[in-house]
Amino acid sequence: MTPLFNDDFQEFPLKRALAQVVGKREAGAKVIGAYCSYAPVEVVWAMGGVPAVLCAFSNAPIPKAEETLPVNLCPLIKSSFGFIELKTCPFFELTDAVVGETTCDGKKKMFELIQKHRPLYVMDLPQCPTNEGAVAYWRHSVNGFKQFLEETFATTISDAALEESIRECNRKNRLVKQIFAFGACKPAVITWQEMYAVATYAMSAQGPEAIAQLEEIIATLTARREQKLFTSKESAKRVLITGCPVGGDVLKVLKLVDEEGAAIVGLDSCTGLKPYADVTEEGSGDPLLAIAKRYLQIPCACMTPNTGRFEVLKQQVEALKPDLVIDLVLQSCHTYNVETVKVESYVREDLGTNYLKVVTDFSQQDLGQLKTRIAAALEMN
Ligand code: SF4
Ligand code: SF4
Repeated sequence: MTPLFNDDFQEFPLKRALAQVVGKREAGAKVIGAYCSYAPVEVVWAMGGVPAVLCAFSNAPIPKAEETLPVNLCPLIKSSFGFIELKTCPFFELTDAVVGETTCDGKKKMFELIQKHRPLYVMDLPQCPTNEGAVAYWRHSVNGFKQFLEETFATTISDAALEESIRECNRKNRLVKQIFAFGACKPAVITWQEMYAVATYAMSAQGPEAIAQLEEIIATLTARREQKLFTSKESAKRVLITGCPVGGDVLKVLKLVDEEGAAIVGLDSCTGLKPYADVTEEGSGDPLLAIAKRYLQIPCACMTPNTGRFEVLKQQVEALKPDLVIDLVLQSCHTYNVETVKVESYVREDLGTNYLKVVTDFSQQDLGQLKTRIAAALEMN
């Protein structure tokens, strides 16, 4: 079967993303590290910069992080911080500046601890997105980030550059969304590893080369569908993964689904479709406001109410027709954990779909228990 990417990074999506960042840095781009889907990458691209995702999913640096941070903190925060302390995160080492947002408490306090390493701007994110004034306030934060970049790198970011960046990001987002839509095929024609690779690639890729690559992927998937080159069996149970971002050591959950012969047909989280699911209004006359409006609609559990999450789940379940929704929560992620109460009831009762909540960390200690629970949940269909 033709692979989606024809390069040397077949099994290594992070190395592919790193190569993108290195290439752009060597061509003169400033590297802006980001920890969250709320980071408005359009502003970074408009400056001629390149975003680099700094969220880490490896268990290895966690003991180092626990010398400083509380043990009962989200493993994503500990892993990201531990890498910085050890100076072993290749993405962080390449950054010229970092942007953070006031999302969850652990992350925003961690930003204070890494401020000594890089110029850092923390965007104040309103957490009641539908309240009066929330969009205007968030526009103020987006503008603050723009001014931070302009001052730090002695440059100006014009409205025209922002508009061009919005158009390019929209084009890319539409293509990524089109690729994820192949998840609806039954039997499957795209694996979760391929979806994850596309989402990882698209974060640091931009411009004609990225568009050509994504269009080529769509052509490959179309050919697979037409030639009936399937990546799963006709009888395979279908699984949608939602919840916290996943990657690295926590991919153990997705691998266990594979081991049961099921097919993951959707990745709804921030390391999947979520950052690409929407587009920004073009030609609005106020590109910062257009960016603010679009980003405030991201359905993260840090928001209250987070109604967008349920709309997205409805769309995803209707399109992908999963037999099981796995809601993956990282340990000590209180927002996603509490939200599972509403998500479970919505998925089971309103969408009529089986549901499994999984709370885990980056260790391998719970592999046996996870395997049993996933197998049992798939059996129940
Ligand atoms: S889950 Fe929320 S806080 Fe985490 S990266 Fe996504 S948008 Fe940001
Ligand atoms: S997974 Fe949850 S606790 Fe961890 S960084 Fe994301 S929002 Fe914060």
